[in-house]
Amino acid sequence: MGTFKSVYPYTQETIAEYAAHTNEEIERKLAAGHAAHRHLAQLPLQQRADGMLRAAALLRQNATEHATIITREMGKTLKEAKAEVLKCAASAEYYARNIAGMLQPKPLQSDAVKSYVSYEPKGIILAIMPWNYPYWQVFRFAIPNLLAGNAGLLKHASNVSGCALAIEKLFLEAGFPEGAFQAVLVSSQNIEPIIADMRVQGVTLTGSTPAGMSVAQLAGKYIKKTVLELGGSDPFIVLKDADLDQAAAIAVKGRMQNAGQSCIAAKRWIVESPVAAEFTSKVTAILQHMQQGDPFNNDTGMGPMARPDLAEELDRQLRQTQQQGATLLLGGQHEGCNFAPTLVSGVQPGMTAFEEETFGPLATIITAQDEQQAIQLANQTPFGLGAALWTRDTEKAARLATRIESGNVFINDLVHSDARLPFGGVKQSGYGRELSTEGAHEFLNIKTVYIK
Ligand code: NDP
Repeated sequence: MGTFKSVYPYTQETIAEYAAHTNEEIERKLAAGHAAHRHLAQLPLQQRADGMLRAAALLRQNATEHATIITREMGKTLKEAKAEVLKCAASAEYYARNIAGMLQPKPLQSDAVKSYVSYEPKGIILAIMPWNYPYWQVFRFAIPNLLAGNAGLLKHASNVSGCALAIEKLFLEAGFPEGAFQAVLVSSQNIEPIIADMRVQGVTLTGSTPAGMSVAQLAGKYIKKTVLELGGSDPFIVLKDADLDQAAAIAVKGRMQNAGQSCIAAKRWIVESPVAAEFTSKVTAILQHMQQGDPFNNDTGMGPMARPDLAEELDRQLRQTQQQGATLLLGGQHEGCNFAPTLVSGVQPGMTAFEEETFGPLATIITAQDEQQAIQLANQTPFGLGAALWTRDTEKAARLATRIESGNVFINDLVHSDARLPFGGVKQSGYGRELSTEGAHEFLNIKTVYIK
């Protein structure tokens, strides 16, 4: 069955090993999840909402403990990890207070005396989640689903089993019934019987495009609905009338936070040529002061990457991009998981850093002749998750936003997820939505009731 190892990325010290669950243990979890879903579905909504508020309170009370588990397992700075935990708490509170409206039956006119749509839970939802935001990715699926009466079964990335188990414990302490939210320690190769099980009624996956393809194929085989939130290569477009100081500051934050390991990181900075030199000098000045290192140190701006193989992969992408003609302006060196904040300019279509998703602290500057070319370059990717657009002309921005092929466009701000706004992608970035009302409805039975 194997084991899962948790390794502290900064030093490569092994911190824990977890045995994979046996088939008998998995069967017990499926049975408990099914029973918990039946139980939750019968409870008054307010009781589930009260449980979610208790979960939020526990996150707030123990934010440092939870953040420490995150930092130890995947290396982001403790500051970033705490912010992640608090974001989970705030989102749990938001949904607990608003879920009743989202699940309210929707009346519809027809030839019936009365007809309406009722939103009902379906069963266990399997969540296959990544290590980059090991709490947030889990909570953003778990919160609306538990509130609606589904049960959650989490197959977390194999390097963050400690996070998975801590979240399971938290929901139990918050008073959710046993089985309502469970972690299952299972390898990717052994996921098929779980997807096939009739008690599992949906699969949500956040991760790479290959992982999404493989899981969606299996889910298709067993007619299970999927939501896929996959990779991205978000454009960050800076037009010549942008506020360059703000754009530069947010570009760096958007690329370097979480050591660059975010699906919605600003991976391609596309800058209109009249301001390219000034923008480059502003971002260089900020990046020069960014300290990479010990994630528990308060002064550290960026922690290590999560695994050495991810750093090696980023190094390959950087070297190839340089060989293809791009210029390295800053950084470029790495040791183990510690990768320096890196900036390259002169990046063009056909180069590796333009064509592939780069999942680490590598910023790229792509120059566009004008705004038409900027939009064309933005769309010249198989991905379509997020996009940022910087200009002082917000009317023009709203017009251009309709031409960008992505699941969201943020004008003059950082692309980010927010419980109040739907989140998801188009093209190879996946389909379906998380968060907001759209996310809350994804794994519900949207049932038509017709009364004559
Ligand atoms: P993966 O996509 O491989 O892992 C994400 C999750 O999917 C993990 O739980 C993983 O489990 C699981 N998984 C992977 N393959 C399968 C499969 N065939 N069947 C079932 N589950 C599967 O990400 P990596 O950690 O390997 O990172 C590689 C790249 O993926 C990154 O460089 C980045 O480009 C992208 N990525 C994107 C993320 C995003 O937020 N969109 C998040 C993380 C990665 P296990 O760990 O056990 O393999």
